[in-house]
Amino acid sequence: MAIRVIPIHAGGAAAPAYDGGPLADTRGRPMRDLRISVTDRCNFRCVYCMPREVFDSSYRFLPHSAILSFEEIARLAGIFVGLGVKKIRLTGGEPLVRRDLHRLVSMLKELPVELTLTTNGSLLAKHAGALADAGLDRVTVSLDSLDEATFRAMNDADFPVAKVIEGIEVAAAAGLGPVKINMVLKRGVNDGEILAMAGRWRASAHSPSYILRFIEYMDVGATNGWRMDDVVPSAEVVRRISQRWPLEPIDPNYPGEVAERWRYADGAGEIGVISSVTQAFCSSCSRMRLSTEGSLFTCLFAGSGHDLKSLVRGGASDDAIRDEIAAVWRGRADRYSEIRTLETQKRPKVEMSYIGG
Ligand code: SAM
Repeated sequence: MAIRVIPIHAGGAAAPAYDGGPLADTRGRPMRDLRISVTDRCNFRCVYCMPREVFDSSYRFLPHSAILSFEEIARLAGIFVGLGVKKIRLTGGEPLVRRDLHRLVSMLKELPVELTLTTNGSLLAKHAGALADAGLDRVTVSLDSLDEATFRAMNDADFPVAKVIEGIEVAAAAGLGPVKINMVLKRGVNDGEILAMAGRWRASAHSPSYILRFIEYMDVGATNGWRMDDVVPSAEVVRRISQRWPLEPIDPNYPGEVAERWRYADGAGEIGVISSVTQAFCSSCSRMRLSTEGSLFTCLFAGSGHDLKSLVRGGASDDAIRDEIAAVWRGRADRYSEIRTLETQKRPKVEMSYIGG
Protein backbone atom coordinates (compact mmCIF):
# COMPACT_ATOMS: atom_id res chain seq x y z
CA MET A 1 0.00 0.00 0.00
CA ALA A 2 1.31 3.46 -0.83
CA ILE A 3 1.48 5.49 2.35
CA ARG A 4 -0.22 8.82 2.14
CA VAL A 5 1.93 11.54 3.64
CA ILE A 6 0.42 14.98 3.93
CA PRO A 7 2.80 17.85 3.25
CA ILE A 8 2.82 19.92 6.38
CA HIS A 9 1.79 23.16 4.74
CA ALA A 10 -0.74 21.62 2.38
CA GLY A 11 -3.01 24.41 1.28
CA GLY A 12 -2.17 26.68 4.17
CA ALA A 13 0.28 28.86 6.02
CA ALA A 14 2.77 27.79 8.67
CA ALA A 15 1.28 26.73 12.01
CA PRO A 16 0.71 29.42 14.63
CA ALA A 17 3.58 29.86 17.09
CA TYR A 18 3.27 27.42 19.99
CA ASP A 19 2.33 29.45 23.05
CA GLY A 20 4.07 27.23 25.60
CA GLY A 21 0.76 26.21 27.20
CA PRO A 22 -0.29 22.61 27.97
CA LEU A 23 -0.43 20.67 24.75
CA ALA A 24 -3.66 18.71 24.40
CA ASP A 25 -5.42 17.21 21.40
CA THR A 26 -9.10 17.68 20.51
CA ARG A 27 -10.05 15.09 23.15
CA GLY A 28 -7.92 16.65 25.89
CA ARG A 29 -5.14 14.05 25.69
CA PRO A 30 -1.57 15.21 26.43
CA MET A 31 1.43 14.15 24.31
CA ARG A 32 3.63 12.14 26.69
CA ASP A 33 5.14 9.29 24.67
CA LEU A 34 7.10 9.21 21.46
CA ARG A 35 7.71 6.04 19.48
CA ILE A 36 10.50 6.32 16.98
CA SER A 37 10.82 3.77 14.21
CA VAL A 38 14.49 3.53 13.30
CA THR A 39 14.09 1.08 10.41
CA ASP A 40 11.31 -0.49 8.37
CA ARG A 41 13.37 -3.70 7.97
CA CYS A 42 13.13 -6.79 10.11
CA ASN A 43 14.84 -10.19 10.17
CA PHE A 44 11.59 -11.93 11.21
CA ARG A 45 8.43 -12.31 9.12
CA CYS A 46 5.80 -12.54 11.86
CA VAL A 47 2.57 -13.65 10.24
CA TYR A 48 0.56 -10.99 12.05
CA CYS A 49 2.93 -8.14 11.17
CA MET A 50 5.13 -8.69 8.08
CA PRO A 51 3.70 -11.73 6.27
CA ARG A 52 6.24 -13.22 3.90
CA GLU A 53 3.83 -13.23 0.95
CA VAL A 54 3.91 -9.41 1.04
CA PHE A 55 7.32 -8.68 2.53
CA ASP A 56 9.19 -10.97 0.14
CA SER A 57 12.44 -10.50 -1.77
CA SER A 58 10.77 -8.09 -4.19
CA TYR A 59 9.42 -5.83 -1.41
CA ARG A 60 10.96 -2.37 -1.67
CA PHE A 61 12.15 -1.20 1.74
CA LEU A 62 13.14 2.43 2.21
CA PRO A 63 16.51 3.42 0.75
CA HIS A 64 19.05 4.69 3.27
CA SER A 65 18.82 8.23 1.92
CA ALA A 66 15.10 8.33 2.78
CA ILE A 67 15.43 7.42 6.43
CA LEU A 68 16.20 9.88 9.18
CA SER A 69 19.82 9.98 10.34
CA PHE A 70 20.62 9.62 14.05
CA GLU A 71 21.40 13.34 14.13
CA GLU A 72 18.00 14.19 12.61
CA ILE A 73 16.22 11.86 15.03
CA ALA A 74 18.04 13.33 18.04
CA ARG A 75 17.21 16.86 16.97
CA LEU A 76 13.52 16.04 16.59
CA ALA A 77 13.46 14.12 19.87
CA GLY A 78 14.76 17.22 21.66
CA ILE A 79 11.91 19.27 20.17
CA PHE A 80 9.35 16.66 21.27
CA VAL A 81 10.75 16.68 24.80
CA GLY A 82 10.38 20.47 24.83
CA LEU A 83 6.69 19.88 24.09
CA GLY A 84 6.18 17.54 27.05
CA VAL A 85 7.27 14.07 25.93
CA LYS A 86 8.51 12.06 28.94
CA LYS A 87 9.19 8.67 27.40
CA ILE A 88 10.81 7.59 24.14
CA ARG A 89 10.65 4.07 22.73
CA LEU A 90 12.86 2.99 19.84
CA THR A 91 11.19 0.46 17.61
CA GLY A 92 10.76 -0.60 13.98
CA GLY A 93 10.90 -2.97 12.01
CA GLU A 94 13.58 -4.55 14.12
CA PRO A 95 15.56 -1.68 15.67
CA LEU A 96 18.67 -3.79 16.27
CA VAL A 97 19.17 -4.38 12.55
CA ARG A 98 20.02 -0.68 12.29
CA ARG A 99 23.77 -0.41 12.61
CA ASP A 100 25.30 1.21 15.70
CA LEU A 101 21.99 1.85 17.41
CA HIS A 102 23.84 2.42 20.68
CA ARG A 103 25.12 5.66 19.13
CA LEU A 104 21.56 6.97 18.85
CA VAL A 105 20.87 5.83 22.42
CA SER A 106 23.80 7.85 23.71
CA MET A 107 22.57 10.91 21.82
CA LEU A 108 19.03 10.56 23.21
CA LYS A 109 20.36 9.93 26.69
CA GLU A 110 21.18 13.63 26.90
CA LEU A 111 17.44 14.28 27.14
CA PRO A 112 15.44 14.06 30.39
CA VAL A 113 13.31 11.08 29.31
CA GLU A 114 12.86 7.41 30.04
CA LEU A 115 14.47 5.62 27.12
CA THR A 116 13.28 2.17 26.08
CA LEU A 117 13.54 -0.22 23.14
CA THR A 118 11.27 -2.91 21.71
CA THR A 119 13.03 -5.79 19.97
CA ASN A 120 12.44 -9.33 18.78
CA GLY A 121 15.49 -10.27 20.85
CA SER A 122 17.35 -12.05 18.07
CA LEU A 123 20.36 -9.71 18.28
CA LEU A 124 19.95 -8.66 21.88
CA ALA A 125 22.57 -10.89 23.51
CA LYS A 126 25.13 -9.26 21.22
CA HIS A 127 24.05 -5.65 21.79
CA ALA A 128 22.58 -5.45 25.32
CA GLY A 129 25.86 -4.43 26.96
CA ALA A 130 26.56 -1.58 24.53
CA LEU A 131 22.95 -0.37 24.77
CA ALA A 132 23.06 -0.36 28.58
CA ASP A 133 26.42 1.44 28.58
CA ALA A 134 25.00 4.02 26.18
CA GLY A 135 22.19 4.77 28.64
CA LEU A 136 19.19 2.71 27.58
CA ASP A 137 16.86 2.29 30.57
CA ARG A 138 14.82 -0.80 29.68
CA VAL A 139 13.97 -3.27 26.93
CA THR A 140 10.78 -5.01 25.89
CA VAL A 141 11.27 -8.27 24.02
CA SER A 142 8.66 -9.92 21.83
CA LEU A 143 8.40 -13.67 22.37
CA ASP A 144 5.30 -15.52 21.23
CA SER A 145 6.17 -19.07 22.30
CA LEU A 146 8.74 -21.27 24.02
CA ASP A 147 8.01 -24.12 21.66
CA GLU A 148 10.23 -24.13 18.55
CA ALA A 149 7.53 -25.15 16.09
CA THR A 150 4.99 -22.66 17.42
CA PHE A 151 7.60 -19.90 17.61
CA ARG A 152 8.40 -20.53 13.96
CA ALA A 153 4.72 -20.64 13.03
CA MET A 154 4.36 -17.13 14.47
CA ASN A 155 7.55 -15.47 13.17
CA ASP A 156 8.14 -17.45 9.96
CA ALA A 157 11.91 -17.23 10.49
CA ASP A 158 14.31 -20.05 11.15
CA PHE A 159 15.53 -18.77 14.50
CA PRO A 160 15.98 -20.73 17.74
CA VAL A 161 13.91 -19.71 20.77
CA ALA A 162 16.96 -20.30 22.96
CA LYS A 163 18.76 -17.34 21.35
CA VAL A 164 15.88 -14.99 22.23
CA ILE A 165 15.80 -16.31 25.80
CA GLU A 166 19.54 -15.76 26.00
CA GLY A 167 19.00 -12.17 24.79
CA ILE A 168 16.40 -11.60 27.50
CA GLU A 169 18.70 -12.94 30.20
CA VAL A 170 21.72 -10.99 29.00
CA ALA A 171 19.61 -7.81 28.92
CA ALA A 172 18.38 -8.37 32.47
CA ALA A 173 21.94 -9.00 33.65
CA ALA A 174 23.08 -5.81 31.89
CA GLY A 175 20.59 -3.79 33.96
CA LEU A 176 17.91 -3.34 31.28
CA GLY A 177 15.18 -4.82 33.48
CA PRO A 178 12.61 -5.44 34.48
CA VAL A 179 12.49 -6.91 30.98
CA LYS A 180 8.96 -6.88 29.64
CA ILE A 181 8.16 -9.84 27.44
CA ASN A 182 5.38 -9.30 24.92
CA MET A 183 3.40 -12.28 23.69
CA VAL A 184 0.90 -11.64 20.89
CA LEU A 185 -1.81 -14.28 21.00
CA LYS A 186 -3.37 -15.75 17.90
CA ARG A 187 -6.20 -18.21 18.49
CA GLY A 188 -5.32 -21.73 17.44
CA VAL A 189 -1.66 -20.89 16.86
CA ASN A 190 -0.03 -20.07 20.21
CA ASP A 191 -2.85 -19.78 22.77
CA GLY A 192 -1.97 -23.29 23.93
CA GLU A 193 1.29 -21.79 25.20
CA ILE A 194 -0.18 -19.33 27.71
CA LEU A 195 0.51 -21.41 30.81
CA ALA A 196 3.96 -22.49 29.67
CA MET A 197 4.97 -18.86 29.15
CA ALA A 198 3.45 -17.76 32.45
CA GLY A 199 5.27 -20.58 34.25
CA ARG A 200 8.60 -19.77 32.60
CA TRP A 201 8.58 -16.07 33.50
CA ARG A 202 6.95 -16.16 36.93
CA ALA A 203 9.36 -14.75 39.46
CA SER A 204 11.69 -17.16 41.17
CA ALA A 205 15.14 -16.96 42.59
CA HIS A 206 16.37 -17.37 38.99
CA SER A 207 14.11 -14.90 37.24
CA PRO A 208 13.32 -11.97 39.47
CA SER A 209 13.02 -9.33 36.82
CA TYR A 210 10.62 -10.29 34.04
CA ILE A 211 7.10 -9.09 33.35
CA LEU A 212 5.17 -11.13 30.81
CA ARG A 213 2.47 -9.24 28.92
CA PHE A 214 -0.21 -10.75 26.72
CA ILE A 215 -1.23 -8.66 23.72
CA GLU A 216 -4.49 -9.05 21.83
CA TYR A 217 -3.89 -9.54 18.13
CA MET A 218 -4.81 -6.29 16.38
CA ASP A 219 -6.02 -5.33 12.92
CA VAL A 220 -3.04 -3.10 12.20
CA GLY A 221 -2.03 -2.56 8.59
CA ALA A 222 -3.72 -4.21 5.66
CA THR A 223 -1.69 -7.35 5.08
CA ASN A 224 -2.22 -9.73 8.00
CA GLY A 225 -5.75 -10.91 7.16
CA TRP A 226 -6.97 -10.15 10.70
CA ARG A 227 -10.26 -11.69 11.87
CA MET A 228 -11.96 -11.15 15.20
CA ASP A 229 -12.10 -14.95 15.62
CA ASP A 230 -8.28 -14.96 15.85
CA VAL A 231 -8.29 -12.70 18.92
CA VAL A 232 -7.89 -14.25 22.37
CA PRO A 233 -9.55 -11.77 24.76
CA SER A 234 -7.44 -10.74 27.75
CA ALA A 235 -10.25 -11.73 30.12
CA GLU A 236 -9.82 -15.32 28.94
CA VAL A 237 -6.05 -15.16 29.48
CA VAL A 238 -6.48 -13.92 33.05
CA ARG A 239 -9.09 -16.61 33.71
CA ARG A 240 -6.91 -19.40 32.35
CA ILE A 241 -3.81 -18.37 34.30
CA SER A 242 -5.83 -17.78 37.47
CA GLN A 243 -7.09 -21.34 37.40
CA ARG A 244 -3.49 -22.51 37.76
CA TRP A 245 -1.92 -19.63 39.71
CA PRO A 246 -4.51 -17.27 41.24
CA LEU A 247 -4.15 -13.65 40.13
CA GLU A 248 -5.34 -10.41 41.69
CA PRO A 249 -5.62 -7.00 40.01
CA ILE A 250 -3.19 -4.24 40.93
CA ASP A 251 -3.24 -0.49 40.35
CA PRO A 252 -1.62 1.00 37.26
CA ASN A 253 1.86 2.47 37.71
CA TYR A 254 0.55 5.74 36.29
CA PRO A 255 -2.77 7.03 34.90
CA GLY A 256 -3.36 5.84 31.37
CA GLU A 257 -0.99 2.84 31.53
CA VAL A 258 -1.79 0.64 28.56
CA ALA A 259 -1.24 -2.74 30.23
CA GLU A 260 -3.68 -3.82 32.91
CA ARG A 261 -1.61 -5.29 35.77
CA TRP A 262 -2.28 -8.52 37.67
CA ARG A 263 -0.12 -10.08 40.38
CA TYR A 264 0.26 -13.69 41.40
CA ALA A 265 -1.38 -14.20 44.79
CA ASP A 266 1.56 -16.40 45.81
CA GLY A 267 3.99 -13.49 45.40
CA ALA A 268 5.61 -14.66 42.17
CA GLY A 269 5.53 -11.26 40.49
CA GLU A 270 3.09 -9.80 37.98
CA ILE A 271 1.79 -10.04 34.44
CA GLY A 272 0.13 -7.49 32.17
CA VAL A 273 -2.62 -7.73 29.59
CA ILE A 274 -2.98 -5.30 26.71
CA SER A 275 -6.52 -5.37 25.42
CA SER A 276 -6.56 -2.97 22.52
CA VAL A 277 -9.36 -4.90 20.81
CA THR A 278 -11.73 -5.86 23.65
CA GLN A 279 -11.10 -2.81 25.85
CA ALA A 280 -9.88 0.11 23.79
CA PHE A 281 -7.72 2.64 25.57
CA CYS A 282 -7.90 5.47 23.03
CA SER A 283 -9.26 7.88 25.65
CA SER A 284 -5.91 7.92 27.44
CA CYS A 285 -3.60 7.43 24.46
CA SER A 286 -0.74 9.92 24.67
CA ARG A 287 1.48 8.53 21.90
CA MET A 288 2.96 10.28 18.94
CA ARG A 289 4.80 8.19 16.35
CA LEU A 290 7.70 9.22 14.17
CA SER A 291 8.13 6.92 11.19
CA THR A 292 11.44 5.74 9.77
CA GLU A 293 11.30 8.35 7.03
CA GLY A 294 10.33 11.19 9.31
CA SER A 295 6.55 11.39 9.12
CA LEU A 296 4.31 11.97 12.11
CA PHE A 297 1.48 9.56 12.84
CA THR A 298 -1.03 10.28 15.57
CA CYS A 299 -2.48 6.75 15.73
CA LEU A 300 -1.28 3.18 15.14
CA PHE A 301 -4.25 2.74 12.82
CA ALA A 302 -3.70 5.93 10.85
CA GLY A 303 -4.09 5.98 7.09
CA SER A 304 -1.78 8.93 6.57
CA GLY A 305 1.01 10.86 8.25
CA HIS A 306 2.43 14.37 8.26
CA ASP A 307 5.71 14.94 6.50
CA LEU A 308 8.19 16.36 9.00
CA LYS A 309 11.30 15.35 7.11
CA SER A 310 10.79 18.01 4.44
CA LEU A 311 10.92 20.64 7.15
CA VAL A 312 14.00 19.11 8.74
CA ARG A 313 15.84 18.81 5.44
CA GLY A 314 14.47 22.12 4.15
CA GLY A 315 16.27 24.19 6.77
CA ALA A 316 13.35 24.94 9.13
CA SER A 317 14.28 26.24 12.57
CA ASP A 318 13.60 24.27 15.75
CA ASP A 319 10.84 26.74 16.63
CA ALA A 320 9.13 26.28 13.27
CA ILE A 321 9.28 22.48 13.60
CA ARG A 322 7.98 22.70 17.18
CA ASP A 323 5.03 24.81 16.03
CA GLU A 324 4.11 22.27 13.36
CA ILE A 325 4.33 19.31 15.75
CA ALA A 326 2.17 21.19 18.27
CA ALA A 327 -0.40 21.94 15.58
CA VAL A 328 -0.56 18.30 14.46
CA TRP A 329 -1.10 17.16 18.05
CA ARG A 330 -3.71 19.83 18.73
CA GLY A 331 -5.65 18.70 15.66
CA ARG A 332 -5.58 15.02 16.69
CA ALA A 333 -8.98 13.32 16.98
CA ASP A 334 -8.10 9.62 16.44
CA ARG A 335 -9.93 6.92 18.40
CA TYR A 336 -9.82 3.98 16.02
CA SER A 337 -10.08 1.17 18.55
CA GLU A 338 -13.13 2.73 20.17
CA ILE A 339 -14.99 2.87 16.89
CA ARG A 340 -13.66 -0.33 15.31
CA THR A 341 -16.32 -1.94 13.13
CA LEU A 342 -16.30 -4.09 10.04
CA GLU A 343 -16.23 -0.86 8.04
CA THR A 344 -13.27 0.76 9.81
CA GLN A 345 -11.28 -2.46 9.39
CA LYS A 346 -11.37 -1.93 5.64
CA ARG A 347 -9.88 1.56 5.81
CA PRO A 348 -6.39 1.93 4.37
CA LYS A 349 -3.95 1.74 7.29
CA VAL A 350 -0.24 2.06 7.47
CA GLU A 351 1.80 -1.09 8.27
CA MET A 352 3.16 -1.44 11.80
CA SER A 353 6.64 -2.25 10.54
CA TYR A 354 6.75 1.14 8.83
CA ILE A 355 5.14 3.27 11.50
CA GLY A 356 6.85 1.53 14.44
CA GLY A 357 5.13 -0.89 16.80
N1 SAM B 1 10.73 -5.89 15.89
C1 SAM B 1 10.44 -5.42 17.21
C2 SAM B 1 9.71 -6.47 18.01
O1 SAM B 1 9.51 -7.57 17.48
O2 SAM B 1 9.38 -6.21 19.15
C3 SAM B 1 9.71 -4.10 17.27
C4 SAM B 1 8.59 -3.85 16.30
S1 SAM B 1 7.18 -4.89 16.50
C5 SAM B 1 6.16 -4.22 15.22
C6 SAM B 1 6.51 -4.31 18.02
C7 SAM B 1 5.48 -5.16 18.67
O3 SAM B 1 4.30 -5.15 17.92
C8 SAM B 1 5.85 -6.61 18.86
O4 SAM B 1 5.66 -6.99 20.20
C9 SAM B 1 4.86 -7.33 17.97
O5 SAM B 1 4.57 -8.60 18.46
C10 SAM B 1 3.68 -6.40 18.03
N2 SAM B 1 2.74 -6.57 16.92
C11 SAM B 1 2.99 -6.55 15.60
N3 SAM B 1 1.86 -6.76 14.89
C12 SAM B 1 0.86 -6.92 15.78
C13 SAM B 1 -0.53 -7.17 15.67
N4 SAM B 1 -1.12 -7.31 14.49
N5 SAM B 1 -1.25 -7.26 16.81
C14 SAM B 1 -0.65 -7.13 18.01
N6 SAM B 1 0.65 -6.88 18.18
C15 SAM B 1 1.41 -6.79 17.08
